[in-house]
Amino acid sequence: MAISLPIDIEQVKGFLAEDEAEALFKAASEMSARGPILEIGSYCGKSTVYLGTACKANNAVLYALDHHRGSEEHQLGEEYHDADLYDQGAGLMDTFREFRKNMRAANLEDTVVPIVAASRLASRGWATPLSMVFIDGGHSLDAAMADYQSWASHVMSGGILAIHDIFPDPDQGGQAPYTIYKLAEASGLFETLPMVNTLGLFRKI
Ligand code: MG
Repeated sequence: MAISLPIDIEQVKGFLAEDEAEALFKAASEMSARGPILEIGSYCGKSTVYLGTACKANNAVLYALDHHRGSEEHQLGEEYHDADLYDQGAGLMDTFREFRKNMRAANLEDTVVPIVAASRLASRGWATPLSMVFIDGGHSLDAAMADYQSWASHVMSGGILAIHDIFPDPDQGGQAPYTIYKLAEASGLFETLPMVNTLGLFRKI
């Protein structure tokens, strides 16, 4: 599938394989005709560009939730730390500046609503049914569980739940996303769709 994107996606920092990006775009193109989409874990906006471009075509809104302080693996001294995204003054990661820059460059400021907050906090007063939820947040068990427990219930009937970084083999990657993937499977609330690389997909019954 050739997806026409508003910017050179290679310039956007992030961790998303091409086949996964295409699957997200395809699902979002279909789903956003029915209502808004929410992604959790925007980082610098790579998946946001794909989801947002799909939403824009349907004149739909994409909520992009991230505390923008980086996940465990992005922190100073950790494997995926990026010094460009470190706020020396605050002594904290700050990916929001880069995220905003990318949304502006991609002409998505009229489509994407950034929510700069922790997942549980953002969900506290949430009442809007979502046509699709994409979970790509922290990989600690606590973070993944918070994302699942806070947002899976907001997927509308017939909507899509997508979870990134599913590694059934522990040697391939962390197990927290796979743990919530199995929870979704066992919940009886979702039909399991074929995986795309490490992207788990469900349809809400
Ligand atoms: Mg991910």
